[in-house]
Amino acid sequence: MAVYNVKNPFIAHLKSSKMLTSPESGKDTRHYEIDLSGSGMEFLPGDSLAVKATNCPDLVEDLLKTLKLDGDTVVTSPAKTEKSLRETLVADCSITQPEKKFLKLLAEKAGHGASEWAGLLEIEKKKELADYLWGREIIDMVEAHPVAWEAQEFVSSLKKLNVRLYSIASSLKVYPEQVHLTVATVTYDSFGRERKGVCSTFLSDRLDSSTPIPTFITPGKGFRLPEPEDETPIIMVGPGTGIAPFRAFMQERKATGAKGKAWLFFGDQTRANDYLYEAEWGEYEKDGVLHQLDLAFSRDQDHKIYVQTRMKEKAAMFWEWLDAGAIVYVCGDASRMAKDVDTALHEIIAEQGGKSEEEATAYVDQMKKDKRYRRDVY
Ligand SMILES: Cc1cc2nc3c(=O)[nH]c(=O)nc-3n(C[C@H](O)[C@H](O)[C@H](O)COP(=O)(O)OP(=O)(O)OC[C@H]3O[C@@H](n4cnc5c(N)ncnc54)[C@H](O)[C@@H]3O)c2cc1C
Repeated sequence: MAVYNVKNPFIAHLKSSKMLTSPESGKDTRHYEIDLSGSGMEFLPGDSLAVKATNCPDLVEDLLKTLKLDGDTVVTSPAKTEKSLRETLVADCSITQPEKKFLKLLAEKAGHGASEWAGLLEIEKKKELADYLWGREIIDMVEAHPVAWEAQEFVSSLKKLNVRLYSIASSLKVYPEQVHLTVATVTYDSFGRERKGVCSTFLSDRLDSSTPIPTFITPGKGFRLPEPEDETPIIMVGPGTGIAPFRAFMQERKATGAKGKAWLFFGDQTRANDYLYEAEWGEYEKDGVLHQLDLAFSRDQDHKIYVQTRMKEKAAMFWEWLDAGAIVYVCGDASRMAKDVDTALHEIIAEQGGKSEEEATAYVDQMKKDKRYRRDVY
């Protein structure tokens, strides 16, 4: 099998893309099909694709103007190659989120001018610094502190542009030599400027079929399906883009004639605008690959309904499946969803299994040890 990694990525190309959310949605979530022809790349459902994006050229131009630097100046990039400052900022440097090295240098250069935030660079002020920086990017910091920069000095103060990971939403058994992704485009306004997530807007705005997309596979540690002949039931909890690996799971289980039952919890804001891959789940139900589907659209009624609300409504059945040895997979938002789902899981086990809080915790700990509670959250 061909081995690709950050130093030796496979250069893939976009095959097609389409909107998954409607124009009325509060979100912009898209489906991407990426051509891997000739790569020999192999992956399993549960793996992720690493994508090395480039920065928005308009942001680079704004930054050059603010820094009063000539984009044609030759510099040594973090990749240790000599190229123009402009190319280096587009391809190799993290130019949005301000990191400590850059901030320390800026504080030094700006002197008193930086007193509002420079004191937050001490280790113990991590939270305060993160709060201060929320919504602020490097361009805001250089604009607020108009000091003179050398091109190389600026580049050297920045971190390397990192890859972003995306859960793979397709099975090689159904779509050989391609990979599908489900990506929420990150855009927001802050401090009077329109902001764009680097990689999600690279995919949504700056790609055509000829644009090189450097990629490689990151294995999904433990986020694996049971063998097809294994009758262990699976419960998948994947609101929002957390649905991605479960689309791959369903494709794989249909292709392999997997024997176990499957239950999916999906949720998002509204059914009309945010029901990702709606038609496909109905097909999997018809095909007998998906046995139970529960949906939670938080904004379709006065009170908020989330996937964990649905889990608790179906607590008796959830416990029956757990008792039959079901594996629980959770994918998606780490900041709130994963915690709320974890709390609901504990509550279901305590209530339905007649267990104390401590016993429910011990049950969940045992599930983790037995690899029956697997999370891929971000
Ligand atoms: C294992 C794994 C699997 C993943 N799978 C998927 C997937 O299937 N689909 C998917 O869409 N994503 C997935 N992600 C997330 C993905 O890797 C990226 O983090 C995401 O696309 C954002 O990257 P970006 O480069 O577009 O944004 P970035 O340039 O990284 O910007 C994001 C940052 O912008 C800031 N920010 C965002 N919103 C605001 C706001 N409103 N106000 C102020 N600041 C804000 C935050 O600091 C945030 O960290 C996955 C992550 C991991 C680790």
